[in-house]
Amino acid sequence: MRVESDDPYFPDGMPQPALDPVSLPFWEACRDHRLLVQYCSKCGTHRSPPKPMCGHCGCFECGWSEASGRGRVFTYTIVHHSPHPASQECLPYNIAVIELEDYDRVLLTSNVVNCPDDVLYVDLPVELVWEDRRDGQSLYRFQPSTGDRRPT
Ligand SMILES: [Zn+2]
Repeated sequence: MRVESDDPYFPDGMPQPALDPVSLPFWEACRDHRLLVQYCSKCGTHRSPPKPMCGHCGCFECGWSEASGRGRVFTYTIVHHSPHPASQECLPYNIAVIELEDYDRVLLTSNVVNCPDDVLYVDLPVELVWEDRRDGQSLYRFQPSTGDRRPT
């Protein structure tokens, strides 16, 4: 289940995604609340973040598949000293690496929202939520799963 997130995780002054020809399809899909994962047209290997070439076979042709948005926390950290002035006001915050359940080891760096940092743990089941920015870009975040699955 996808849930809309109302509050931005970071204030407006935070750097926003840099759109380039390789990542543009990914970020455009985010605006439509679709989380895409790039795959190699030759060998089918999925990869994240978007890259111009397959690291497995060297092919430059790619396609995109839509992720369910379900996954688990692969690893995370709690940031107490921010490298960017804009995020000083929201310390501490988490940075989490999410392993998407639809793929074989596709990892996505994001944040877990709607979850106190002290209850985050590795393997926590999570689901996608969208943060709609005022500039029109939507950013992917994750929250603890509200589904009927239980942590293993
Ligand atoms: Zn390949």
